[in-house]
Amino acid sequence: MMTEFLYLTDSYLFETTARVVQQTADYLILDKTIFYPQGGGQPCDQGSITAYGVEIFINLVRMVDEEVHHYGEITGPIPEHVTCRIDKNRRILNAKHHTAGHLLAGCLECAHPQLTATKCHAFPNEAYVEFKGAVDLQPQSIQELVNQSIKQEIQTKVFEIDLASFENKYYRLPYTVPSNKPFQVLQIGDYKPVPCGGTHLSNTSEIGSILIKKVKTKDGVLKVSYEVCESR
Ligand SMILES: [Zn+2]
Repeated sequence: MMTEFLYLTDSYLFETTARVVQQTADYLILDKTIFYPQGGGQPCDQGSITAYGVEIFINLVRMVDEEVHHYGEITGPIPEHVTCRIDKNRRILNAKHHTAGHLLAGCLECAHPQLTATKCHAFPNEAYVEFKGAVDLQPQSIQELVNQSIKQEIQTKVFEIDLASFENKYYRLPYTVPSNKPFQVLQIGDYKPVPCGGTHLSNTSEIGSILIKKVKTKDGVLKVSYEVCESR
């Protein structure tokens, strides 16, 4: 049975009940989960899984063969029905960095059509977006551009679509995604929609503001390092 990925459609669901479908000495598999598994340039969620006085701290979550493995110190049998809670601050911090990466990519691609975002790494303290194409840009100008978009309070949306419909409606993907099942897409306002299974904020204003730490061009790749600030 496939796990239902609740984090895909609701980034603000911090607690849920679930059923344990498999337990090993190292990890649990649930029928549905709010825990984001590390991947796609985003750290995993952490939190707890509890039931009848048993509490397991989940410190690592990974996707293995389309099942989400919740790793923690499992010392004995876990009851079937459990309550799952994720660290809310960690989720929001990750979603801010991740959504900011998308916005940075969207803003720069829009302002400089010769740029194509190719990679987004959104771990706090080491976040960056890489672009194919060389444009000479100053950190300050990028920062102003993105922070203006943040202030415009742009709504984001996620939806599911299959590959043929996506390429028909939007653009040809420069990389491969499974063509036999629908995938999740993120779209910020009118920016280019992108396939992504990460956790996203529902409005750009929730990012706060960003700081561009470094801009580097090497071998036709533009790398923009950024940080999310709490102030608006
Ligand atoms: Zn994303």
